[in-house]
Amino acid sequence: MAGIYIHIPFCKSKCAYCNFFSLASESKIQDYVEALKKEIIARKTYLGNEIVKTIYFGGGTPSLLSVKNIEEIINLLNKNYEIVSSPETTLEINPDTIDREKMSSLKQIGINRMSVGIQSFHDDDLKYLGRRHDSRHAMQVLDDLKHSGFDKITLDLIYGMPTLTEEKWNKNLDIFFSTGFSHLSAYALTVEPKTILGQRIEKGDLQNISEDDAIRHYNILVERTKENSFEHYEISNFAKEGCRSQHNSIYWKDVKYLGLGASAHSYNGNSRQWNISNLTKYIQFVGNSNDYFEKEILTKEDKFNEYVMTSLRTSWGCDIRKMETDYGERYAVHFLKNVKKHLDSGIMLIKNNNYILTDEGMLFADGIAADLFL
Ligand code: SF4
Repeated sequence: MAGIYIHIPFCKSKCAYCNFFSLASESKIQDYVEALKKEIIARKTYLGNEIVKTIYFGGGTPSLLSVKNIEEIINLLNKNYEIVSSPETTLEINPDTIDREKMSSLKQIGINRMSVGIQSFHDDDLKYLGRRHDSRHAMQVLDDLKHSGFDKITLDLIYGMPTLTEEKWNKNLDIFFSTGFSHLSAYALTVEPKTILGQRIEKGDLQNISEDDAIRHYNILVERTKENSFEHYEISNFAKEGCRSQHNSIYWKDVKYLGLGASAHSYNGNSRQWNISNLTKYIQFVGNSNDYFEKEILTKEDKFNEYVMTSLRTSWGCDIRKMETDYGERYAVHFLKNVKKHLDSGIMLIKNNNYILTDEGMLFADGIAADLFL
């Protein structure tokens, strides 16, 4: 089984914290869709004989594409790849780029999961983040989604900004739980130096984020999702039983995936490749030459480290038997030797041969993973 990711790098404006490859312009959408179609055909053998079970339109703001464009892409994928009959097909949307009519048309062409970037229901948080939408748009899109008939809906929220008090964070979570949606992605805000937010903080125009606030918000998040019967199945992801994101789970389970579009990454079990983060060059080169991507062959060590890093982020953790079988005894011995201190300190535990981070341990996942690398 495999997944396909399609990157749509267009947004109405650039959010202050955004570090993704996206452009605040819609003028090249049509040329980009034509280039995407060429890439779909050019890379039809990339996944070998794997059957595709998930399709994910991410961005950027995929809801800026017309329904016709999205349908053309889905049809072309179906024509060129082996895809299960009803794949999980997700589209990321932003509140001010969609209405009920468009939601209904998207449902008819095969989109069956909506991922909405709300981030907060409070205007001052949204202003701090430089989002286009306000709390009124956020509530409107929730109402539209509730009436849309989609079974699978996930919300993105951000915590850790200085404008977000504990009371407001609880209120954001209250609103989410009141929707009855089955999936939540909640991210701690990070400030990258080259973003608008990073520069404004450096100039002293905006207050910086505080790690202590982010930890307090995370603890509230973990407690409240547990109370509401959500499984904390990945550091930033929470789902009701049976409602995990099948697509994102691919990235954490060492499954092959094909990334289409500028800046998209692909993995075929032996190598990783990533498309150029330049719209003009992507449109110019794709289908004509191989200059639109770079590639890295993965060593056994790279694959082991990647396995440790991705599986540690999840509720199923690192399987010691898999390490022995897939990588060999030397790797398993190294892991067991280094994991001991984390078990002793109580931030990791063992469940059925799997080494798992506790809720507290998840706060330090990157550092612990680095410590376990070979
Ligand atoms: S909507 Fe998403 S991709 Fe677009 S600018 Fe904002 S954070 Fe970046």
